[in-house]
Amino acid sequence: MNPTNRFVEDSHQELISAVRELCREYPDKYWRELDETRSYPEAFVQALTDAGYMATLIPEEYGGAGLGVTEASAILEEIHHSGGNAAACHAQMYIMGTLLRHGSEKHKREYLPKIADGSLRLQAFGVSEPNTGTDTTQMKTMAVKNGDRYVINGQKIWISRAEHSDLMLLIARTTPVDQVKKRTEGLSTILVDMRQAVGHGLRIRPIRTMMNHATTELFFDNLEVPAENLVGEEGQGFRYLLDSLNAERILIASECIGDARWFLERTCRYANERVVFGRPIGKNQGVQFPIARAYANLEAARLMVTRAASLFDGGKPCGPEANMAKLLAADVSWELANVAVQTYGGFGFAEEYDIERKFRETRLYQVAPISTNLILSYLAEHVLGLPRSY
Ligand SMILES: Cc1cc2nc3c(=O)[nH]c(=O)nc-3n(C[C@H](O)[C@H](O)[C@H](O)COP(=O)(O)OP(=O)(O)OC[C@H]3O[C@@H](n4cnc5c(N)ncnc54)[C@H](O)[C@@H]3O)c2cc1C
Repeated sequence: MNPTNRFVEDSHQELISAVRELCREYPDKYWRELDETRSYPEAFVQALTDAGYMATLIPEEYGGAGLGVTEASAILEEIHHSGGNAAACHAQMYIMGTLLRHGSEKHKREYLPKIADGSLRLQAFGVSEPNTGTDTTQMKTMAVKNGDRYVINGQKIWISRAEHSDLMLLIARTTPVDQVKKRTEGLSTILVDMRQAVGHGLRIRPIRTMMNHATTELFFDNLEVPAENLVGEEGQGFRYLLDSLNAERILIASECIGDARWFLERTCRYANERVVFGRPIGKNQGVQFPIARAYANLEAARLMVTRAASLFDGGKPCGPEANMAKLLAADVSWELANVAVQTYGGFGFAEEYDIERKFRETRLYQVAPISTNLILSYLAEHVLGLPRSY
């Protein structure tokens, strides 16, 4: 019996089956080999793009599928449930949302159809900085207007996929923090054409991490960008950033649900097959119960993800639900990662079983794109009315 089969008895069965079929071409061995050399899954990303999945959220008038976060979630969940990892490209799905909501018609006509057909990749999002951490409003990277150009200086860190993206959506200060009334003001969103920038004021330094994740550090040294690359109004970048966060939280939560289902299925299979003391280890309640408990948590987390996605697609406020979905889904994928290692015993540590690789991969979501503590602070302050803690 497949313990998570009941999850997929929903309206997106056809879409999910098609994604699963595509993922079959990229089995464990593919991901294991890339992990060993920390290489980018180029073939997989290209296949997803060619199949149109990366254009799920782009409206039809700009060449996309015109679907919602619910469908995008189903796609990402299935990639992870199938053993793949969409972190190499998921941002392509949602970064363009800022362009779509706040960009000029000229920007939209110029970029969105190319992003939709895969001829342009917009999958780098430049927010984090080494010395400001989660306190985004304190970012130091400055973009100073000089005639028809912005001149950018500063540093970013953890900017994923920068080496594999044609465009990056950068958030930088256009007014220093000590010259604005509110610290959330004076930040702006600028499109950087990486093909022109790298080597001409932008340097990229890859960071090797515990899992295969193409993340980098960026150094800006008088990088010049056309002023027309400003997205929306100058100084409003923080607002645009907040706008995009709910979709990001829901989509990452869906990946966690996919990971959790992958762990659950492997763990049940192994617990049934592994015979010790003359019987399957799964016959012991000490082995069964952690799996059963995690399964219950998985069902609950998935309900929250579904609810958040449906509120988002209905145009309703969904901040609390999107945050809770991310929190619960990241917690359950990490819970199941631990349960899987425990159930597999020594084999959980062997690379050829893939458990240890997925364990490393899913650990990220306790920290990025938003750490668990910051979600709890949000819920405490904005939903429960408790005092602001920082
Ligand atoms: C692999 C990877 C990929 C990433 N990709 C991108 C990307 O593409 N673009 C991008 O812009 N960023 C990216 N990030 C950055 C990511 O969003 C940040 O790492 C994350 O938001 C946490 O920020 P920080 O690392 O600076 O931690 P810090 O802000 O230094 O926090 C460190 C710890 O302290 C805790 N903490 C801090 N303040 C408080 C508080 N007030 N109350 C309670 N706890 C607190 C945090 O929860 C965290 O656990 C990525 C990070 C990683 C690791």
